[in-house]
Amino acid sequence: MFAAAIDGPAGAGKSSVAREAAKRLGFVYVDTGALYRTVALYLLDQGVPLRDSQRVAAALPGVQVGLEYGEEGQRMRLNGQDVTGRIRTPEVSMATSAVAAIPAVRAFLLGLQRQLARENNVLMDGRDIGTVVLPQAQLKVFLTASPEERARRRVRQLEESGQPADPAEVLREIRQRDLQDSTRETAPLKPAPDGVLLDTSGLTFQESVESLIGLVRERM
Ligand code: C5P
Repeated sequence: MFAAAIDGPAGAGKSSVAREAAKRLGFVYVDTGALYRTVALYLLDQGVPLRDSQRVAAALPGVQVGLEYGEEGQRMRLNGQDVTGRIRTPEVSMATSAVAAIPAVRAFLLGLQRQLARENNVLMDGRDIGTVVLPQAQLKVFLTASPEERARRRVRQLEESGQPADPAEVLREIRQRDLQDSTRETAPLKPAPDGVLLDTSGLTFQESVESLIGLVRERM
């Protein structure tokens, strides 16, 4: 099996770039952020205080995270219900970043991520894939872009999905999530020492996809 770990900050375009590259390579694209989002949605729905690691850990046995791969890519189920759309709101994004800092949450999702990579050729996108989840990955990419560029892309994405967005607010959220994700104690967002940096600030979408496919092919 071949595994490529694609890590990087919020809004860098990891998911759209990795999804397209995976499609062209015939690989499975795994969006691990969606797993964390699904857990966060459950905790929000249940009214569990997100920064109380003990109560969060105690709630985890009630969460069943389901993944499906279909025509439109990865779909998420939470205790049997399709939550693919519900996990994409800014409220869930912020909640996710808070609960992803809790070690019990990370441990809860680790086995599932590793299993997916054992059974499929994967492009797996996240924050700690190259550093923690798949340290043996054949390719590790740190995919990034400037915060302003990432905010612009996220605004466009939200607008396209019919959610109006305030650019200043989106930039603020991106900076806050970057800070939260990169300064947490457990599995912080950071480039793997043996990884490749791919800065897409000056690249078009197609150029970013080509670069990623090129990196995979070099190592296959
Ligand atoms: O990638 P996405 O923006 O959907 O991720 C949402 C949040 O989930 C991130 O801000 C991060 O806190 C968390 N996450 C993580 N580790 C991963 C994937 C996502 O901590 N592998």
